Amino acid sequence: MYYGWVHNSYGAARQAAHAATDAESSARRAENAMARLEDAIERQTLIIRSLLEVCSRKGVFTEDEFREIVTEVDLSDGRLDGKYKPQLGPQQCANCGKTNGKRAVTCMYCGNPLDGRELV
Ligand SMILES: [Zn+2]
Repeated sequence: MYYGWVHNSYGAARQAAHAATDAESSARRAENAMARLEDAIERQTLIIRSLLEVCSRKGVFTEDEFREIVTEVDLSDGRLDGKYKPQLGPQQCANCGKTNGKRAVTCMYCGNPLDGRELV
């Protein structure tokens, strides 16, 4: 009887330790994924900022003109929220007829560009 209680307690403690280890691993993976995303965003910000600077220096457009265009594009998805998030659904490929995911730009089966999908 006593041995059974000790045995069950030991098993529960092992399960709890295992669950804690799994949770730590999940948290570490999430932190790593977030760090990679932050790095990617910072690199993209650098590139966009550099392109904007080149265009401004070469007289292609001013930063104010660029901001107007950003607002137009922002509004084109139906919301002025500082983001561009068009509402897309699955799309059938005109070439092979297979259905592709809502974010696909080209057909994942045959590589055909999908109509109306933008690169960015
Ligand atoms: Zn296709």
